[in-house]
Amino acid sequence: MAAEMLYEGKAKKVFATDQPELVRVYYKDDATAFNGQKRGQIEGKGAINNQMSNLLFQYLAEHGVPTHFVEQVSERETIVRKVDILPLEVVVRNVAAGSFSKRLGVVEGTVLPRPLVEFYYKNDELGDPLLTDDQALVLGLASQEDLAELRTRALEVNRLLQERFAACGLALIDFKIEFGRLPSGEIVLADEISPDTCRLWDKDTHQKLDKDRFRQDLGGVEDAYQEVWRRMKGGLSA
Ligand code: 5GP
Repeated sequence: MAAEMLYEGKAKKVFATDQPELVRVYYKDDATAFNGQKRGQIEGKGAINNQMSNLLFQYLAEHGVPTHFVEQVSERETIVRKVDILPLEVVVRNVAAGSFSKRLGVVEGTVLPRPLVEFYYKNDELGDPLLTDDQALVLGLASQEDLAELRTRALEVNRLLQERFAACGLALIDFKIEFGRLPSGEIVLADEISPDTCRLWDKDTHQKLDKDRFRQDLGGVEDAYQEVWRRMKGGLSA
């Protein structure tokens, strides 16, 4: 009997397993941007995002960051712990780009004096709006303790990822992560970390090697994902 599909998102499908505390995630090649208004396919993306995300989740776990990762079962499929995803997207920025540049008029590429953590309300209907801490508290989306924990974790993830990407000649401009709660109440890193969710620039040429190539119709989208993965898996320095 085919496994029951629990959820289909824009880039992934989630299936039940025979263990209630575990689910199987399948990574698709589908790509969307601007809250689903732009749609397309990035050939090979699912396999790259799955494997790259797993590599990074294992690296983060080895450095003390708890995650949902359990086991990769194929190029596109991974077993993860079942969590309740918190309705917050956590964005960390090292360099101005994207919505930060646009909204605040800061030239793309401006290095920020310190990493910036932002919370967004994970709500497609509203287009994932930026959220103040107080708004998150009043709406009951998270507690004061949760927000403090998410901020600390996000900065730690940023520090570790910056180091890992720098070893591959990549600058981590910004990224979005999501957290989930286990039945025990423990908060763990969930979702994925990939060129879909990170801005990655070549450290010397500042060439964009991430989903902005798709969002901005820059061409060479597949090549960029492959280049990132080639550098990551080989531990190459350029
Ligand atoms: P921005 O707010 O500048 O659009 O995005 C900041 C960072 O978070 C970028 O690395 C971007 O890829 C990531 N990000 C923010 N929201 C989303 C989202 O809904 N989906 C994905 N895949 N990435 C997001």
